[in-house]
Amino acid sequence: MKKTHLRTTLSLAFALLVALTVCLVSILSSTFISREFEEYVKLTQKKQADDLAESIGSHYDESGGGFNIDYVHGMGMYALKDGFLIRLYDEDGNLLWDAENHDMALCHEVMDTITLRMQENRPELHGDFVTYSYDLETKGKHTGKLEISYYTPYYLDENDFQFIHALNRILALTSAVSLSLAVVLGVLFARRITKPISGVISATKKISEGDYGVRVDANLKERETHELADAVNHMAASLEEQEYLRRQLTGDIAHELRTPVTNISSYMEMMIDDVMEPTQERLKSCYDELSRLFGLITDLERLESVESGGINLNKEDVELLSLSETILQGFETGIHEKNIDARVSGEEVHICADRGRLSQVIANLLSNALKYTDENGKITISVKRKKDIAELVVEDTGIGISKEDRERVFERFYRTDKSRTRKTGGAGMGLSITKAIVQAHGGTIHCESEPGTGSRFIVTLPVI
Ligand code: ADP
Repeated sequence: MKKTHLRTTLSLAFALLVALTVCLVSILSSTFISREFEEYVKLTQKKQADDLAESIGSHYDESGGGFNIDYVHGMGMYALKDGFLIRLYDEDGNLLWDAENHDMALCHEVMDTITLRMQENRPELHGDFVTYSYDLETKGKHTGKLEISYYTPYYLDENDFQFIHALNRILALTSAVSLSLAVVLGVLFARRITKPISGVISATKKISEGDYGVRVDANLKERETHELADAVNHMAASLEEQEYLRRQLTGDIAHELRTPVTNISSYMEMMIDDVMEPTQERLKSCYDELSRLFGLITDLERLESVESGGINLNKEDVELLSLSETILQGFETGIHEKNIDARVSGEEVHICADRGRLSQVIANLLSNALKYTDENGKITISVKRKKDIAELVVEDTGIGISKEDRERVFERFYRTDKSRTRKTGGAGMGLSITKAIVQAHGGTIHCESEPGTGSRFIVTLPVI
């Protein structure tokens, strides 16, 4: 299916919305204004007829002169031009003045013009000339009757129609201008929204092709697009980091494997060629190199198992203080060689955990403390309970870790100093394995350290 551009959809939606609003407003205002105007004209015409009757009625001479016919004539001719035809009777019903009698041609012309104009423009009114009768009185005495005929329900003259047409033209013009503006604004508005999205699309395409260095301009005003650009930048940065770590891992593994394999193969070659005797000592040296290889493979396997979420915990009651003491004893030789003051302190804390995995955690932390602490240093493992949390701290007076490294030591394959750690044999996997195990137990691990002073690794684990 052919896909439309988001920009087109947004522009169209915007224009459609404005078009609908403008149409609705135009239709409603045109209808209401016209209706109100017509209502006003209807009332005005009724008032005009009433005023005419009152004015003629007031020109009655009580002293016997009757109606002032000259005045009635003047008013009648004047009213005729406005579409009112009058007829006046005295109190006995005798006709005194009739517009039709006076100027029949003009009366018919006025009536025809009004009727024709209204039927052309307002056929739905079905209007016609209707006669209204007024009883005239002076001081309570009946003086006569006035009949006024005009087009009912109302009629509009040329100027009125011009006014209504002008009004409709203005509304149509306003609608057209608003609509054009809406289209222009809609396109601009849609472009503003879609531009960063297009940027994100092209960046993600590049990322999918392996270009992790690409970044999107995240300095955007709208929160959502800003967050989207930010998220893509984060994703690219983390992929870049992963890619770097993957490359580093390949290099590290190759390097780690090369040294023992080279040593073993050169020993073997010399022994096969009888250049060297296969003495106990040389075979022991080969065995040590093989052990290093074995250790590396075990580390890689462990990491693979914890990183693929495959930690099966066989939980049981474990007492942390005695477990720490047992593990410390396993490091006796190394501690003794470096003349390190190592001890376990604190209180007995029972937790529900996987003994084997937990031993691995303590052993990893202790092994690091031993590796990075110089001779005559100090290592302390302390255990204590804080409410429902067991806290295990492994502290040393070793070389310490800089602030920058402190945040990254738990990342897999991260080593603070490549050459130094290579000598000590670590591949930067111990702490990431440790962290994964602690987290699998629902605990946390973090590090506090000052370079040159020492490090503290603090593990918290839920008691139950
Ligand atoms: P490794 O196998 O290299 O020891 P780890 O994941 O256990 O890997 O540790 C990562 C890095 O953190 C080490 O290479 C080391 O630089 C640093 N580190 C860990 N523990 C300590 C410590 N107690 N003192 C100083 N540096 C440490």
